[in-house]
Amino acid sequence: MLSYLYPDSNCISPLMKKTIYLLLSLASLSGFSQVDTRLYDIINNVSEERIKTDITKLAGFGTRHTLSDTLSDTRGIGAARRWIKNEFDKISQECGNCLEVFYQKDFVKKGTGARIVKDVWVVNVVAIQRGKSNPNSFIIMSGDIDSRVSDPNDYTSDSPGANDNASGMAGAIEAARVLSQFEFENSIMYVGLSGEEQGLFGGKGLAAYAKEQGWEIIGILNNDMIGNIKGVDGVISNRDFRIFSEPVPPTESEETRRARRFYGGEVDGISRQLARYVHKTTKTYMPEMNPILVYRLDRFARGGHHRPFNDAGFAGIRIMEAHENYTQQHQDIRIENGIEYGDVLKHVNFKYATKLTAVNAINLGSIAWAPVSPDNVQIGGAVQPSAKLKWAPVPGAKGYKIYWRDTTSPTWDHSIYVGNVSEYTLNGIVIDNFLFGVASVGEDGHESIVAFPTSVFRD
Ligand SMILES: [Zn+2]
Repeated sequence: MLSYLYPDSNCISPLMKKTIYLLLSLASLSGFSQVDTRLYDIINNVSEERIKTDITKLAGFGTRHTLSDTLSDTRGIGAARRWIKNEFDKISQECGNCLEVFYQKDFVKKGTGARIVKDVWVVNVVAIQRGKSNPNSFIIMSGDIDSRVSDPNDYTSDSPGANDNASGMAGAIEAARVLSQFEFENSIMYVGLSGEEQGLFGGKGLAAYAKEQGWEIIGILNNDMIGNIKGVDGVISNRDFRIFSEPVPPTESEETRRARRFYGGEVDGISRQLARYVHKTTKTYMPEMNPILVYRLDRFARGGHHRPFNDAGFAGIRIMEAHENYTQQHQDIRIENGIEYGDVLKHVNFKYATKLTAVNAINLGSIAWAPVSPDNVQIGGAVQPSAKLKWAPVPGAKGYKIYWRDTTSPTWDHSIYVGNVSEYTLNGIVIDNFLFGVASVGEDGHESIVAFPTSVFRD
């Protein structure tokens, strides 16, 4: 029975072996189903020990409130950001100065919103790993430096913010450690953002700085709370995590909005494509994890640091635990009616934070190894038996993949590798019944984020 279930290789006939070999070579030639074993190395290199050490260190600064002390070397947000910068600097030294590390800061005046009760410098810590082919194109991973307790303006009480958001910050540092051992085509940016709890000020500042610098932002993976596995709903899961993405950009024109009534695309904005990419990469390389696409910008009436990037017209998603515990976030540390309140270390599951860091790292790696997405994707084929697509060629692409799906499906379920062409007809696929997109494919099989058509052609 056992040998029937698990035949050893001697049981396979030479002809069968030949067939399997042929199929495998065809698969690799066609560009389908390739996996890059470097991504498994990346998953394995994310260290639970270092994640634990860094979350512990960050929680140990007492408070990291945006308005807290900046002079002490042991307590407050000043000490925390200097420590983060120093960690990025150390990582850079170990990879032959492969990171550009700097502070990006904005002065925010007292009264800029109800939560800025005194003048403050909102200071982000940025580390850039330059890509070889597209140094000005960036995929970003962010965590937050700052923390808070029950009163958002209380900047002196103990506020360890172990999960919110030392977990995301530690993840960004660890991703930099692991990925700095590789070279990429696009640039990767690892950032610690401040001012999140006071009104998303750090993200606003960095998004504006990105525009000033003329950076091409491929997207941002914003990590906010990636360490809790026991939900207030009673569910405990170290597999589930959520990917939040808004349906379409808030910056789109009225013309685009009107066109969508006729051509579709209600759930196909740039952030949603980034979310689908992360979902697919996770399913492929970390099948033990359960990514949940959530079709909304963020949790109900709540915010996160991907939003200011979305506001600036950039793709951005929030990656976070699936089961939140509200007694362990934004709370004064206390015991009330037998419930222990507070965002303290003992509630963080380091193994889970390690897994979600690996989710980020493989997506950063895969996107940074791939060509950028095709530009100017056009679609045609109305009242014809076949859908047609055209796109602008992408430097560094060895070919392209056309994706399509049922209009009700959340994921790109069908695809065909079409080689190095810039237009293609999907014979017998009627345009009315599916949604379509195009991805570019690099030499080693890595794919760009799928680009949804932005205009229509007729022939
Ligand atoms: Zn928070």
